[in-house]
Amino acid sequence: MTGYGKTGLVLTEPILHELSSKGNKGIDLPVSGTKDYTQDSQIPNSLLREDISDFPELSEPEIVRHFTRLSTYNYSLDGGFYPLGSCTMKYNPKLNEVVSQFEGFAQAHPLTEDEDSQGILRLLYELQEDLTEISGMDTVCLHPSAGSHGELLGMMLICAYHESRKDFNRKKVLIPDSAHGTNPSSAAICDLQTVTVKSGPDGQIDLTALNELMDEDIAGIMITNPNCCGLFESRFEQICEIVHQKGGLVYFDGANLNALVGMARPGDMGADVLHFNTHKTFSTPHGGGGPGAGPIALKKILEPFLPKPVLVKKNDFFHWDYNRSESIGRVRSFFGNTGVLIRAYCFIKTLGASGLREMTETAVLNANYIKNKLENHFDVPFKNQNCMHEVLLSDKTLNEKQVTTLNIAKALIDKGFHPPTIYFPLIVHGAMLIEPTESESRATLDHFIDTMIDLAEKPVEFFENLPQKSYVSKVDEVKAARTPVLRWEKIRS
Ligand SMILES: *Cc1c(COP(=O)(O)O)cnc(C)c1O
Repeated sequence: MTGYGKTGLVLTEPILHELSSKGNKGIDLPVSGTKDYTQDSQIPNSLLREDISDFPELSEPEIVRHFTRLSTYNYSLDGGFYPLGSCTMKYNPKLNEVVSQFEGFAQAHPLTEDEDSQGILRLLYELQEDLTEISGMDTVCLHPSAGSHGELLGMMLICAYHESRKDFNRKKVLIPDSAHGTNPSSAAICDLQTVTVKSGPDGQIDLTALNELMDEDIAGIMITNPNCCGLFESRFEQICEIVHQKGGLVYFDGANLNALVGMARPGDMGADVLHFNTHKTFSTPHGGGGPGAGPIALKKILEPFLPKPVLVKKNDFFHWDYNRSESIGRVRSFFGNTGVLIRAYCFIKTLGASGLREMTETAVLNANYIKNKLENHFDVPFKNQNCMHEVLLSDKTLNEKQVTTLNIAKALIDKGFHPPTIYFPLIVHGAMLIEPTESESRATLDHFIDTMIDLAEKPVEFFENLPQKSYVSKVDEVKAARTPVLRWEKIRS
């Protein structure tokens, strides 16, 4: 491949090996084997290689331009509206990035003695306190590296609790049919068998179905609230009662907590353990699979089983407590994804209590604004309930003219938007889950709404071969599956 950059709208950026030309250098290192080299290096000469075959050779500007060009080929939150339901792609304040990179935080070594790291320990401890307050629980553990990791830890604690009571028969867990796929996965890793609870016609958990399933072989239930249809589970307290009465515990998936912060607390509603997705609720760039942090908050009954070490405060001194006889052990190296936790701390401290409440109100208002403007143009499965922070549409009315959710998603790309979450939750046919978040302006929402209304009126022919304006247009999925190219190989002439 020759040439690079934006040629029309075709992605033509070669990889570094292809851009390489012999003798180009980005940095001058002392020559191997010379006096200069051996003096500085800790690596014995016997372990040094003479040459690395096919190692790309480029100058610094060539490398900078390569990665700068690549960064413009992707859609980003800093570039446009990104209404990916359940993922909470809100604006990530740049101040939080700056603070997380302060030398004292970024360079802190996790093996530093407690007395030499009181600053960062104070920050983590205060974050624990704030998350405890926000969730209405008794304590918080910051260790998990993602929401799904928090789920796993939460379920491990529930299992440890039952085992400590010699209650060995609880091998099943109840999970609603609208749940995120990570819920059954976390349960399965704990050797629990998933039992699906059906949603009622109002998109919420059906109490009759729950009552029939709840028994003394059930370890607990995993519930997302608001649920993945963007609806508040209004019978949550009754659900907790039914589960508790038969000795089960309630796991609260807190991925949608940005619809509750400052308004309602899962601990007050009866939940026993929950995870935060700090990268969603309290911001952090988290596209492409990371990074994240999934602290959990829990009631006292689960506290003895917390993973080691536990961050505690004694006489104004912060330290890690390893002396925990009932602990389930460690769930990761060191103490959590600290860089992400610092960002969450900044977000919470910058907004304060009233700011967090306003964040929630605005997120819910924005989603309901979209719902109200679109409900005469799209099928809205749970039309007569207000939504929370996200609105769920379906392609039912579009199907009459053969238009599908996938068509709308591909067309939105050409209109400059990231598509919403599509075909999730599974209980709604052709789902489009739209989450605007609180950080979008009225003008952005109106532009999106007008675009959606325009697309709803288009005939099926309009959608053929879309998108046209992205760097990668409609991909040949059959060819990709039959003849996958998974490895770069040097083309030898
Ligand atoms: C995002 C999400 C998860 C998983 O969280 P990760 O941080 O991506 O591991 C779990 N449940 C729900 C409802 C989610 O939206």
